[in-house]
Amino acid sequence: MIGHKMPILLALRQTETVFSFLVRWRKWQGFLSESYLCQRLYAKRSIRLHPYLPPQLAQIGEAIDVLPEHLLLNHTLFPLFALFNQPKRNVLKSRMLHAGNSVISSVGIPHAQIPVKFGHKWCPLCMQEDMQKLGFCILVIEHQIPGVIACAKHSCLLQFLVCGQNAPDRGLKMKLVNPQVVFSGERAANFSAFCCDVLALAKEHADINVQEAYTEQLISNGYITNSGRFRMKRLEQDFYSEVLGSPHFLELDVVSFLKKKSFLGPMLRRKTGYPAHPLKHLIFSFWLFNGDSTKLILRSHKGCRKALQAKSVECVNNEILDLLRNGMSMNHIEVNVGKSRCYIRRLAELNGIKHQSNAMKYPESTRRAVQIKALMGKHRQEIANELKVGIGYVEQVISNTHGLAAYRKSLRMNVALKRAQNEITGVVKRNPTWNRTQVRAAAQSAYSLLYAKNRELLDSCLPKPIRPSPPKKKVKTVKRNQK
Ligand SMILES: [Zn+2]
Repeated sequence: MIGHKMPILLALRQTETVFSFLVRWRKWQGFLSESYLCQRLYAKRSIRLHPYLPPQLAQIGEAIDVLPEHLLLNHTLFPLFALFNQPKRNVLKSRMLHAGNSVISSVGIPHAQIPVKFGHKWCPLCMQEDMQKLGFCILVIEHQIPGVIACAKHSCLLQFLVCGQNAPDRGLKMKLVNPQVVFSGERAANFSAFCCDVLALAKEHADINVQEAYTEQLISNGYITNSGRFRMKRLEQDFYSEVLGSPHFLELDVVSFLKKKSFLGPMLRRKTGYPAHPLKHLIFSFWLFNGDSTKLILRSHKGCRKALQAKSVECVNNEILDLLRNGMSMNHIEVNVGKSRCYIRRLAELNGIKHQSNAMKYPESTRRAVQIKALMGKHRQEIANELKVGIGYVEQVISNTHGLAAYRKSLRMNVALKRAQNEITGVVKRNPTWNRTQVRAAAQSAYSLLYAKNRELLDSCLPKPIRPSPPKKKVKTVKRNQK
């Protein structure tokens, strides 16, 4: 029976929890007993499934024809836990896919004794909608985020199917009674929506650097000084007065627990810090980013920002080139775009656009002559003297020709290396009995230049290395001591 394609009614719903699906599966697929299903899936007589970090997903995935990675990403809170504890990402993944129970303890996710109510959560209004639309109820992963007490969609309090000792979750049963709908308050619903957004971001971008995002926002809010020190006292005061003051968006037990001891220092300090429970991160980032989860990614994606900056440079350059081609004077362009005339002239010359500045007063042949002499590695002053032009002109031509400055730099390095090689060879020739250490002492700077830039060349001109001799035994001194 296991491995068959599922009828539509049994298909795994979007973001449905694994527990919810297995409950439905057992019921609709008509397994004779729960233990039969457990035996086939887990090789155990009974199981207790974690609401958001269920184990052995590879086996479940295979049984229901779904990729285990898909289960992991969309039907568990793996993305969230991995986001806030990146070093453990791979361990957590492999444990959730292949290991038996005890995923949480084995990967060392600090549960941190936060007294969150533990159980499968569900929203009564979502349930009613499901019943009308589908004819059955499902639990969704967004509601299972630890600490979240409200449905983001309906702003009502979530209900609990309590887990743990002697609780009814032992086994694949879901007894949901129709409860009273209680309004959760706007703040709790906003927090819930924020958490859902973070979960969605964590699914899309595995490489978000949370610490970097925090740091940047803390700097811009003035909680980190220019020298990189935390203004921890101020931060704690502001955070606790705003977040843990009323109206509450967390369970009261959690609030009083968090009030006991600040968790900000260990969570934020890089050297002395340690991983914190995702709930702490969620509460802190909800406050820090003012409920805007996108700041987590916009601020942390250095690569994106660099690309944006590079793009803006390109835009400016294109704008300048357009204006130059339209014949606008450099003065005007400088005022409009905000780039120096030197920059504009360089751009014009690199792109072969003629302009009216002093640099164009010499004919093209002089320009070519400067370039050729520069290629030969002649000094700027020498070129200026030979061609009877100003040294400024020579410098401009060199810097405004693609790759010429870099080439001249490499030439200078070659000359310095050659000189250093000659110096060392001379020292070795004059003192044929010297070892390497003595040569190094005699030509210190030449030696270090070659050591840093071209180790092979250095080796080729030094005498052969002496084999290191083992240290002499200190037998004599020991004997003397004994005497
Ligand atoms: Zn709802």
